[in-house]
Amino acid sequence: MCYMSTTEPTVFERIVAREIPATIVYEDDRIIAFQDIVPKAPVHLLVVPKTSEFANVTELAAGDPQLLADIVAVAQILADDHSGGNYRLIFNTGERVGQTVFHVHAHVLGGALSEGTLGF
Ligand code: 5GP
Repeated sequence: MCYMSTTEPTVFERIVAREIPATIVYEDDRIIAFQDIVPKAPVHLLVVPKTSEFANVTELAAGDPQLLADIVAVAQILADDHSGGNYRLIFNTGERVGQTVFHVHAHVLGGALSEGTLGF
């Protein structure tokens, strides 16, 4: 009998496992960050917990608030390195607002963003 999980790994787990290439800009034992494959801003990085336990930021905040705080801290480090310290942080939550990967991730947007809009 086979006891392998039937749950497919998320695309981000496959990046962590180096099964899919990505331009990785940060990594520690719990978090990885890399360039978005379809950038919507001059700087567009994804900050992702290595665990796929949390589908969205609400689950993450409830289940591991320290990990959420660490993701924000990494966003600031990346913004310091790539965007003069300024950044916009987006967590899409739900299909109807455009979430496509149900493994929580923060979009870090920077560079010259249009003023007066929260869109990307
Ligand atoms: P969401 O729409 O779920 O908030 O964001 C998912 C993001 O992941 C999208 O911006 C999409 O471009 C990015 N993405 C999806 N697949 C890959 C991939 O294989 N590599 C990278 N680097 N980004 C990806």
